Amino acid sequence: MAKKVLVLGEVREGALRNVSFEAIAAAQKIADGGEVVGALIGDQVSQLAGSLIEYGADRVVVVQHPHLKSYTSDGFSQALLAIKDEVKPDAIVLGHTSLGKDLSPKIASRLQSGLISDVTEIEGTGDDALFIRPIYSGKAFEKVKIKDGIVFVTIRPNNIAPIEQDTNRAGEVVELSVDIQNLRTIIKEVVRKASTGVDLSEAKVIVSGGRGVKSADGFEPLKELANILGGAVGASRGACDAGYCDYSLQIGQTGKVVTPDLYIAAGISGAIQHLAGMSNSKVIVAINKDPEANIFKVADYGIVGDLFEVIPLLIEEFKALKV
Ligand code: FAD
Repeated sequence: MAKKVLVLGEVREGALRNVSFEAIAAAQKIADGGEVVGALIGDQVSQLAGSLIEYGADRVVVVQHPHLKSYTSDGFSQALLAIKDEVKPDAIVLGHTSLGKDLSPKIASRLQSGLISDVTEIEGTGDDALFIRPIYSGKAFEKVKIKDGIVFVTIRPNNIAPIEQDTNRAGEVVELSVDIQNLRTIIKEVVRKASTGVDLSEAKVIVSGGRGVKSADGFEPLKELANILGGAVGASRGACDAGYCDYSLQIGQTGKVVTPDLYIAAGISGAIQHLAGMSNSKVIVAINKDPEANIFKVADYGIVGDLFEVIPLLIEEFKALKV
């Protein structure tokens, strides 16, 4: 049966995150020919509605308010609940991002609804859709089905391909007025740490360093390689604990979960807690001087060698290829 599916477009620093478009593709599978409605929440975000339509939303409902400039779970809950009351969807799809992970369980529990989180694949469509999600730190996958009632779905970035953008697509954009009130927190200012510019959780290429990188300076060749490949730098907890890099780069069970097209692990032993964050990457390349290192068990390509010799050679080769 065709369904109505609401998708939250996630805005960061004035732009829609890619995961929003991936969520629309997921919503189309759930809708099975029904309606996909985009939701945009923020302050002065209505100009982004067109992109949601170009990527497959049939119409968009926008809630704008100065208190929604930065994410707070109180403010966004009020806005999303108001949109839900207006649209009356069968399902709500969000990215499995910090925002989605915070907002979806809060509203799902308030509505006594189901929540299928961290979905990496959807098999089938509509009532027959099966949601595939990793469990036990990625060691197994479970398939979940919607029984009945409104359900929340969060999708892991970089797993479900967005549909092709169609700039000729048109759809209705309506603004919904919501009086955002009784906020327990109001964010006055957001000060971001300097970053390379590529968002780690959405990066197509990640070059990660571990304790084998040996110092903060040791990360320089990794940064150069990541730059050439248009990717981001990540790290093991070993490297973060040693003070070689910031914890915001940590990948793993207690860090970020990533699924890039290419993951290069340099000087990382491959502890189970690290694998939990990266083992679903499409292609894994490991560089380690210990041929017995556990990381080689999950690697598609392994290079046994000193990363300080191998990475400069890779940089040279990629520069020559002009990738
Ligand atoms: P090491 O295990 O010390 O490995 C360093 C590797 O570098 C070795 O394999 C060595 O052969 C290689 N090497 C050394 N020099 C060179 C060189 N010149 N060239 C090439 N290779 C070289 N870890 C995470 O990463 N993410 C998490 O989210 C995480 N969460 C955790 C949660 C809990 C509850 C616990 C208990 C642990 C967690 N850990 C996590 C820690 C994890 O168990 C490991 O301790 C950590 O991943 C090890 O980091 P590492 O591989 O960089 O260091």
